[in-house]
Parts: sequence; C-alpha cells; structure tokens
Amino acid sequence: SNKILEVKNLVTGYQGKDGFVKAVDGVSFDLEKGETICIVGESGSGKSVTSMSIMRLVEFENGKILDGQILFCGEELSKKSNEEMRQIRGSKISMIFQEPLTALNPVFTIGKQITEAILFHRSTGKKEAWQRAEELVRLVGISDPKQRLKQYPHELSGGMRQRVMIAIALASEPDLLIADEPTTALDVTIEAQILELLRSLREERGMSIMLITHDIGVAAEMAKRIIIMYAGKVMEVAETKDLFDQPLHPYSKGLLESVPRMAGERGVPLKSIIGSIPRLNEVPPGCRFSPRCPFATKKCNQQEPALETRGTRQVACWHVDELIEKDLLAINTEG
Ligand code: ATP
Ligand code: MG
Repeated sequence: SNKILEVKNLVTGYQGKDGFVKAVDGVSFDLEKGETICIVGESGSGKSVTSMSIMRLVEFENGKILDGQILFCGEELSKKSNEEMRQIRGSKISMIFQEPLTALNPVFTIGKQITEAILFHRSTGKKEAWQRAEELVRLVGISDPKQRLKQYPHELSGGMRQRVMIAIALASEPDLLIADEPTTALDVTIEAQILELLRSLREERGMSIMLITHDIGVAAEMAKRIIIMYAGKVMEVAETKDLFDQPLHPYSKGLLESVPRMAGERGVPLKSIIGSIPRLNEVPPGCRFSPRCPFATKKCNQQEPALETRGTRQVACWHVDELIEKDLLAINTEG
C-alpha cells in the first residue's frame, strides 16, 4: 500500500480536574507517502492530541488512547513496545512540538541536541554530525550556526528555539514529519523559508508531512488535502482546491470566511464565527457545531451526523445536500 499513516476511529481521553473527557472522539484519516495533509481547526479542537496520540506520547501526560487504530507503514503502533516506539520516534517519525521550550533539554547545548538526533539515526563520525548540524541550522534560517550550536536553549529567543526544534526534527531524516503549528511563533519571512524547506524535503526525499495549523492560508499553500476538526471530531476532509471552491460543512465555510483571502495580511480576520468551541465536559448533544451553526435544525441539536463519503471528500452534516442546492455554502468574504 502507498499509505504511510492510517488513523482509524481514534478516541483519546484525559483525566482532567472536571472528570474524564474525550479530547479526540472518533477521528479517522490517512496519509500517503510523500503527501502533505493539513489539520485545521480552532483552538481546542484536538489537533495536538491527535498528533500526540500518533506519537504515543499522550500517556506521558495523563492521557489515554481509548479506542481505534494507528497504522504506520501498515504496522499498528499500539502493538509496539515502549522501546520500539522510542526507536520509531527517533528515526522514522519526527514531531515538531507546539511548545518548543519544554521540548528542548535545558542542560545541553543546541549543537549537542542536534548532533544526538543525527547520530541516533545514522552512524557517522562526530565531526560529520557536527557539520550536518551546522547545515541544518542554516537551512532553518539561522545565520550564525557555529556560534548558535554552542548556546543553551534559554539563551535563544522563542522563534530561534522553534527553528532549533525544526532542525532536530529533520535531523533524523524522518519518513513522516508531524509539524504542530511549526511556524506560528515565527515572522513571515522565516515562515516562508521553513515552509519552502518542508516542501523541498517532501519533493526530494518523499517525506510525508502532517501539518497542523490555525492558518488556512498556510494549509492551502502546503497541503493536497485538508482535514477540518471541531471539538474532537472531523467535520470535513477535502482536497484543498475543492474545499476552497466549495466547502461542504458550515464550519468549514465559517473558517474560510474568517481568514483574509490574500496573502500578506495575516491576522486580520474579515469575519469570525459567532460563539466559541464547547468545553469538553459540556459537549452539546447532536452535532457539536450546531449551537454555532446558522443552518442548524432540531435534528442537528439531537442527533450526531456521521462523517460520510461523497466522491473524493467526506463531510459530517445533516443538511449538506440542501445547503448545496440552495447555494448557502458559498464563501462570502464581504463584511
Ligand atoms: P490549539 O490550536 O490551541 O493548539 P488543539 O486543537 O491543538 O488547540 P488540543 O491541544 O488537542 O487542541 O486539545 C484538545 C482538548 O484536549 C482541549 O480541550 C484541551 O484542554 C484538552 N487537553 C489537551 N491536553 C490535555 C491534558 N494533558 N489534560 C487534560 N486535557 C487536555
Ligand atoms: Mg495544539
């Protein structure tokens, strides 16, 4: 099969202060070799929990995978021992974390941490590893690599640390890169440079990328397919061009309308979706988006729609046919 990753009905829960909650509740998607897929959704929709589940890191922070399967190159990750999983994380799957400070070890220099990631993956001399580290640091847009490699994480700015994290994630030449908001902390120029680097690694090495972002503009630029998540569920999966032509879920429409259409105008939403994402212990019955959906009916408030396949796409909405017919899903960015 050409699939590098298959996530099937993933359910991940956390023991929180207000009881046990499901942060991801039945998420399925797959990723082909050399493909980039983006996961988009508002804060709290379960994007990071999905990626931490794939990495099998949720149990390290009071979480638990409750159901579902995660296949990496056809092999089920839940069947791997902790040691096998550690090997996979150090070589085949890399992740760029959303919180870069906590992910770097404060007691080692940047250079030591990058060269270790290189040496974990291939046996090469220390000198070569150090040269490769310099090269990687330069590739992520750090201009004085020799000096930087001698520094400790706390000596770097947030944006600089994020770039070091990216260099570490790429050091092992992974087959699958999970990048959780990799460029949010960076300025636009560096962001463009990093995205270009990821694109070239995909093209030259066939690396597969699962990119998590708030920024649907970045998703459009990077991904062949986009997954729209809301409150722990997948609302829509579509090829990027199809999604922009015609979203099939009212939430997707809301997201598309809430971003500036033209590049270079970051952060000035034209419209926003009224209301906010529910807390996990207060997930509404029926469709989770229904309290915020302008088209919701009684049925939506009572019964949860399944994610259904329509040609190359998938959507979870009771009224999709009717909304298409009445042309109510067209994106409107005026005012
Ligand atoms: P953002 O865009 O802000 O990064 P996200 O989509 O990545 O959001 P997640 O971090 O996946 O959201 O969180 C989904 C839900 O799971 C949130 O309600 C969050 O509070 C909850 N959650 C995440 N980690 C934990 C944890 N360790 N303990 C309890 N709840 C958690
Ligand atoms: Mg997150």
